Amino acid sequence: MEKSLNTKSNLIAEENVLNWNTVQEGFRKTFGSEIYSSWLKNISLITEYNHYVILGVQTRFIRDWITSRYADKILSELKKFKLSIDRIEFKIIGEKLEGIAFPAKSEDRKISDIKDGVLNYNRLNPNLSFENFVVGKSNKIAFLSAKKISSQLSRYNPLFIYGGVGLGKTHLINAIGLELKNNSSVMFISAERFMYQFIKSIKKNEMVNFKDFFRKANVFIIDDIQFIRGKEGLQEEFFHTFNSLFDKSAQIIISSDRPPNKLDRVQERIKSRLSGGLVVDIGVPDYDLKLNILKKKITEFQNSFHEYPNLNNEIIDYMAKESNLNIRELIGIFNRVVAFSKMNKKPLSINDCKIILKDVHNNNKVISIDKIQNVTSNFFSINLQEMLSQRRSRPLARPRQIAMYLAKKLTTRSLPEIGRKFANRDHTTVIHAVKTIEKLSQDNSLMKKNIEEITSIILSE
Ligand code: ADP
Ligand code: MG
Repeated sequence: MEKSLNTKSNLIAEENVLNWNTVQEGFRKTFGSEIYSSWLKNISLITEYNHYVILGVQTRFIRDWITSRYADKILSELKKFKLSIDRIEFKIIGEKLEGIAFPAKSEDRKISDIKDGVLNYNRLNPNLSFENFVVGKSNKIAFLSAKKISSQLSRYNPLFIYGGVGLGKTHLINAIGLELKNNSSVMFISAERFMYQFIKSIKKNEMVNFKDFFRKANVFIIDDIQFIRGKEGLQEEFFHTFNSLFDKSAQIIISSDRPPNKLDRVQERIKSRLSGGLVVDIGVPDYDLKLNILKKKITEFQNSFHEYPNLNNEIIDYMAKESNLNIRELIGIFNRVVAFSKMNKKPLSINDCKIILKDVHNNNKVISIDKIQNVTSNFFSINLQEMLSQRRSRPLARPRQIAMYLAKKLTTRSLPEIGRKFANRDHTTVIHAVKTIEKLSQDNSLMKKNIEEITSIILSE
């Protein structure tokens, strides 16, 4: 009964356009007023289509933060008001959204379908510019080559940039596109998207248009070419596209996660084309580069929020020193750390920072409850079995509660799951433990210190 009522009200909502004030009210209820007023209050509705909406936010920082943390929830919130919405996009207000510069004859009707498809997904990102690219030892040659290509067309053709994930490949080739788009018709596409268009065109019997479209560019930038590995049909098409662009002296720029000769399951003739121009790599950033990127991010933050982020030098140094970070992760950590300090309105400790780092490192890998139990019982020099037992004496009960608290804090396990791991206790016992320890660690500095120490042992092992 209730279900059919719901469906009905959804259907009614479906016919309406979104009432943004009501949606905002929903955000406030769902996210709570703290998150709402820090992050969501200023989101505006820019355009509404049947299946998706474009929302405006003020800065890149806010956009990145919202998309990484709240995008899913925002989408489900919007769905409450309009069921058909299945996608949201954020636009940074005040900064012009750049489209791809299209070939002069883009009014050609036949290619409009491909054009729209590509347009939707392949905008050059105005933020990924040369000005925003911090140069260091590991990327200097790639950077200089990219600059050179941008000023003297066709000196090297193709330019092939390779390197590991998150090191700035897309940023650099996007920057080339931005630089050239005013004077040339620039096509910027990921290899994956290229394939998608290719398959779509085959299905719709529009291969002629496909070929025309891609061959009209003067500057053809293709990202993540390794994607074509093992895909014969796609390689065939890419080979022909490459050749005809090359023949008419269009500049070709390619990124890849590995050098041309390491592209296994790619035809030899393609590999030889790819390595026929200039091949440069981007390496892992050193301390200086990481530090400079962080400094740049701090400046961006200041420009967005008109305040200095609550980070001391020790923390910044720690983030830059942390080994095996790629730049994407580094920025991710920076954003989290800053948002964390903003939300908690207190300076961060190294330990907070470690927790955040660990979270990013582990991504989906969870710290096990077993480990938390082991470390905690060791820390208090008590027997693990006794810690888990039903005995209520304080020297056992407190460590038990601390372990439960940490299990809640450091893992993604649900309360009942945690309860089960603690000799089948009820989830209400876990809630009680979490509340107790939370309170104690606020009032009691020894408790706070112990928890920090245990946490850092768990995280460092
Ligand atoms: P890749 O394509 O190599 O996986 P990206 O180009 O997507 O990496 O870079 C990941 C993130 O790091 C992006 O947000 C990018 O702007 C940023 N980034 C990478 N290198 C630099 C750099 N040298 N200066 C500033 N930002 C950088
Ligand atoms: Mg990339």
